[in-house]
Amino acid sequence: GSVGAAAALAACSGGGAGSSGPDTDADPKDQTIGVAMPTQTYERWVQDGKNIKKSLEKEGYKVTLQYADDDIPTQSQQIDQMVTKGVAALVIASIDGSALTSQLDAAKSAGIPVISYDRLLTNSENVDFYVTFDNYKVGVTQANSLLFGLGLVDKDFKKAKDAPKGPLNVELFAGSLDDNNAHLFWKGAMDTLKPYLDDGTLEVPSKQTDIEQCAIQRWEQETAQKRMENLLTTHYKGDKQVDGVLAPADPLSRGIINALENDGRGKTIKDGLPIITGQDAEIASVKLIADNVQYSTIFKDTRKLADQAVVAAKAYLEGKEPEANDTKTYDNGSKVVPSYLLPVEMVLEDNYEKVLVDTGYYTDEQVEKGQ
Ligand code: BGC
Repeated sequence: GSVGAAAALAACSGGGAGSSGPDTDADPKDQTIGVAMPTQTYERWVQDGKNIKKSLEKEGYKVTLQYADDDIPTQSQQIDQMVTKGVAALVIASIDGSALTSQLDAAKSAGIPVISYDRLLTNSENVDFYVTFDNYKVGVTQANSLLFGLGLVDKDFKKAKDAPKGPLNVELFAGSLDDNNAHLFWKGAMDTLKPYLDDGTLEVPSKQTDIEQCAIQRWEQETAQKRMENLLTTHYKGDKQVDGVLAPADPLSRGIINALENDGRGKTIKDGLPIITGQDAEIASVKLIADNVQYSTIFKDTRKLADQAVVAAKAYLEGKEPEANDTKTYDNGSKVVPSYLLPVEMVLEDNYEKVLVDTGYYTDEQVEKGQ
């Protein structure tokens, strides 16, 4: 709330020697913003870090940017150090959203405003603002793309006229359980798939339909590949077909594709690979979409997210409140965190040019090379 922000400001603007009380005219050059990112194994976080740093530096701030190799103690330590160093604000994309409560307490005591980045920081009152995408919508969009690819819905996501009766065989994957987003992606997807699962149009031969059974710890590609291999060995003997796979992120999609290809289930969708979803529009997956291997991904413009984080940080440092466009959705267990949500977009073989190339996100050459 605004009381917290005022207190935060009072304490954090004293980065310069001996100043006291709110000093909103402080030269940004005296202020360092701490940016904590989870890992560099996912292309997006590398971009996020780069973009946040660039935009903050453009505003005149100094930046401490750290990656934690998906290791929780490393991230805790990095944030502890940022707090001790007296950063003016924190931007945090957590590994385990609930594991940083003592760091957030320390930030609060030191008057440092905390911006939760992409992933919600949970079980703490000491989270000032949240910038993210419409995460429930990500899941809905993934499921819609799966239904569309299977011919069950038309372009408006209404039941298709000539829809196959089924049952069509699908398997479901979820993200890391300690990432709040994973639950929202799952909920959005399952709410959308439910009618088709209930009436038997879709069948899950493994019967693994709980998020706990489908989750991939730390979002690791290898783990997704192994799980798909196991599913194939156990539930798809002989020529039993896999028609679709709900995959929540591009690296997991690629692990799943590896498993299917190694099992001789086609090299493209046209020659037998199932409909496989994704997320993040990673360049390697966009190439696979262009090549008719991966069916879909979700584009989230992380450049815009980085900008929103900077807007929010700047607001706090200037003694203002950042503007939220959602004040209801993100209850973190201790408070409803005011949020700024960005939209998401479905990407398929027939629109990646328009969504990703025409807008300058990637060049045709990058898509061609897949890097
Ligand atoms: C992010 C996704 C990302 C996943 C794995 C989620 O919290 O929202 O964009 O694919 O983490 O890094």
